[in-house]
Amino acid sequence: MVGESDEPPEGDYAFRGQPGQAKWPEMVYGGALSFLRRRYSRDLADVDVAVTGIPFDSATSNRPGARLGPRAIRAASTMVAELDAFPWGFDPFEHLEVVDVGDCQFDFGYQHHAVEVIESHASAILDTDTTLLSLGGDHFVTYPLLRAHAERHGPLALVHFDAHTDTWADDGARLDHGSMFLRAVREGLVRPDRSVQLGIRTVNPDDHGFTVVTAPAVHEQGTAPIAAQIEQVVGDHPAYVTFDIDCLDPAFAPGTGTPVPGGLSTAQALALVRSLGGLRLVGFDVVEVAPAYDHAEITALAAAAIAHDMLCLLAQQRRSG
Ligand code: MN
Ligand code: MN
Repeated sequence: MVGESDEPPEGDYAFRGQPGQAKWPEMVYGGALSFLRRRYSRDLADVDVAVTGIPFDSATSNRPGARLGPRAIRAASTMVAELDAFPWGFDPFEHLEVVDVGDCQFDFGYQHHAVEVIESHASAILDTDTTLLSLGGDHFVTYPLLRAHAERHGPLALVHFDAHTDTWADDGARLDHGSMFLRAVREGLVRPDRSVQLGIRTVNPDDHGFTVVTAPAVHEQGTAPIAAQIEQVVGDHPAYVTFDIDCLDPAFAPGTGTPVPGGLSTAQALALVRSLGGLRLVGFDVVEVAPAYDHAEITALAAAAIAHDMLCLLAQQRRSG
């Protein structure tokens, strides 16, 4: 245990944590798992952010396995939970009440119910005035999540980290993790003129009105001008941040379904995520972590750090009032 304190090291805060519990270290390598050691609860009164897993991966075009993502991210998050939040300089949980609500429950035999099941799971949480941070699952899960968020906030600005645009056309009925954002635009869930896609390095002949920032552009320009561009495009529109872990280079995220060389480093991605504090942030997800292809938890750790920093953005906004 770190530091000196009069408080005894207890641990297992996943079920022993109390409302208002600050960051407190417990065994990184043991104890009950939850995201960032937050307490499990489905009572969302006085809760600011609910974290949930969406273990669905039946819409992937290549390697399956992202259904095991939430479990892997929770396990990796014990390392992020151990120490003070870097580089933030404050404890996010002194400003933000965060609980883990567990996973969206599926019957794997009814894949075609996924949209309805995920949307109603998310809507029930948003209806309690709680912000949602979802852990995928393949990227298709963002489509029902956007439906739930747009219902509450209106058409959304999408801040979309990915190797792929996920705006390829389909017939409007497929469960496909590569087409749901065009569908979201066509259904009025997303405003492409207010949305940015970051880290793209695949060809899509039509940008469908999105601002597309390629991975080479990030490598050539650095993250600061890109951060300014995001702020300019999104403005004060309600913004939903979705992070497909394959935005990262396969060197930094081998554990994913559709890896593409030439991507962002974890450091570049964290710099961009940490730059989003000026936006009106209404929802978050981190998707496409497939632990079976991971090595040494590289991918799961990156996902846990990114999701942690999404919470820190909200905490920072609360903190500065
Ligand atoms: Mn994607
Ligand atoms: Mn992708």
